[in-house]
Amino acid sequence: MKALIIHAPGDLRVEDVPTPETGPHQLLVKVRCGGICGSDLHYYQHGGFGTVRLQEPMVLGHEVSGVIEAMGAQVTGFAVGQRVAVSPSRPCGQCRYCQQGLQNHCLDMRYYGSAMRMPHVQGAFRQELVAEVAQAHLLADSVSDAEGALAEPLSVALHAVRRAGPLVGKHVLITGCGPIGALLVIAARRAGATHITVTDVAAAPLRSAEKVGADEALNVAQDPQALARYEADKGFFDVLFEASGNERALVGAFGALRPRGIIVQVGLGGEMKLPINMIVAKEFDLRGAFRFHEEFATAVALLNKGLVDVKPLISATLPYRDAGRAFALAADRSQAMKVVLNFD
Ligand code: ZN
Repeated sequence: MKALIIHAPGDLRVEDVPTPETGPHQLLVKVRCGGICGSDLHYYQHGGFGTVRLQEPMVLGHEVSGVIEAMGAQVTGFAVGQRVAVSPSRPCGQCRYCQQGLQNHCLDMRYYGSAMRMPHVQGAFRQELVAEVAQAHLLADSVSDAEGALAEPLSVALHAVRRAGPLVGKHVLITGCGPIGALLVIAARRAGATHITVTDVAAAPLRSAEKVGADEALNVAQDPQALARYEADKGFFDVLFEASGNERALVGAFGALRPRGIIVQVGLGGEMKLPINMIVAKEFDLRGAFRFHEEFATAVALLNKGLVDVKPLISATLPYRDAGRAFALAADRSQAMKVVLNFD
């Protein structure tokens, strides 16, 4: 079978890889769709992010859906031909954090397409994937393969929303409006937020955020003072989801956040310098949100029941052989939100 292997920045190849054996408790999934994530783009453009660097060739990809092609002899509850979204989260199940239900902090996590450990964990941009039963979640007929591939980033958004605590009736600000920011609009609304403002420095992502239900979309490149109107009386927003990883976006939102506001930092970035005095004086609650685990099942359930609509975020579906073009498109924020590869 073919797989998309990153060798070095800009060097992404379609190569043959062997199909692994399907164990008695495993599924062989014929991959149909794979969404290109910001982290895939970082490997492609820069060979990694922060301290995470490519040290050997690695199959990219972790947002996939497909159809069950074969099953191990011991598998029950699935059938060949069923369509599934596959969670890339593969915690060990044994370590202290797994035992505490904090699987996203697993000490032995093998997340698809990640160079965080050596040897790297090979990814899911391949024609065939062997998955554990626990990773596979059945898709309803009403959910397309491409939508199924968005279960993974939707899970990231759902996890961030859970980190924020109850959102019913809350005023929410989302800074950075790529796929995760836009999915945060959807997830926060589902969770009961009554007002959602998003900011970005580009026009196209803001339009996408409006399509999925943002009340207000502010271009802070055109108008750096766009949030100033919310700074009266110590701020307006109860919760900030920071999805850009940009220091200016985070710090620039502090004035519009009310005392005891909750900040959920979702975007990864480099180092940041924070005004600690303002965090102390306004009693902000600064929280991180990293990946997800059980939220994947929730994401698929919401998609299957038609309770969320991610279709407006799918910009294009391209064949995996055109990966170069697909990655260039995914990197162009004026053109693309989520670009999906087709592995058929
Ligand atoms: Zn573990």
